[in-house]
Amino acid sequence: MPTQRTGITGKVIAITGASSGIGEAAARFLAAQGARVVLGARRTERLDAIVAEIQAAGGEARGTALDVTQQEQLVAFIQFAQAQFGRVDVLVSNAGVMPLSLVEQLKVAEWDQMIDVNLKGVLYGIAAALPVFQAQKAGHFVHITSVGDRWVGPTSTIYSATKHAVRAVSEGLRQEMDETIRVTLVAPGATESELPNAISDPALKQAAIEQFRIHLLPAEAIARAIAYAVEQPADVDVNEIVVRPTAQKY
Ligand code: NDP
Repeated sequence: MPTQRTGITGKVIAITGASSGIGEAAARFLAAQGARVVLGARRTERLDAIVAEIQAAGGEARGTALDVTQQEQLVAFIQFAQAQFGRVDVLVSNAGVMPLSLVEQLKVAEWDQMIDVNLKGVLYGIAAALPVFQAQKAGHFVHITSVGDRWVGPTSTIYSATKHAVRAVSEGLRQEMDETIRVTLVAPGATESELPNAISDPALKQAAIEQFRIHLLPAEAIARAIAYAVEQPADVDVNEIVVRPTAQKY
């Protein structure tokens, strides 16, 4: 397939939620491997600083404002990547929020936010990138879910529901695609990032940190998993990668 690129070098990789945590680590790691990375998030001052650091280290990076809850912004994000680098090889849909709570607390606005960012943000990414991938006859969706895409417990009910849904979307999409488009799901366990900051109940936040966030992966461990999937030959689709700290049970 002449339009396929192999490996990581030169690939144009668009990453949502690249202003901190896993998205930032993925941008830095993939750029260091020779990818041309396009970073999107709402905190543009953070993006600007990360892009400047990647460029100073000799990498190729661009950043732009992105709110994944707005479909037209995903379209603009993909168009921005194309305008900057002429194509898009990979979309890493990583943006996510995790305001954990008990269902009976009825934090409906937080449920909406998780559905909008974690699920609809991924769907809008597919809607924006799929026509481009089909026209190129090459493309790769990488969806960052969570071990919560296959596990649920108290306080993670809605968060896990959004991640279960993205896992279903990823598997269905993979089956529907032809041999030119790959779909990979990366499910991290507890990883160093700013994710718990969104938990609005202080007692739950403390409990979540004490229960789930004792053993943490460095965000670069997830970046390496993404890179592993990206660097495979075009006829090899790494379907799912689950990465937990060795000490994490569930
Ligand atoms: P962070 O909070 O550090 O990063 C989340 C990223 O998502 C930020 O860059 C944030 O950028 C972005 N984001 C949030 N809302 C939006 C939005 N509306 N539009 C665009 N970007 C948005 O957490 P992580 O790095 O941990 O999270 C990355 C992914 O990893 C998430 O999908 C999360 O569910 C998943 N994950 C993380 C785990 C962990 O333990 N850290 C475990 C399992 C999964 P900004 O605010 O600037 O827009």
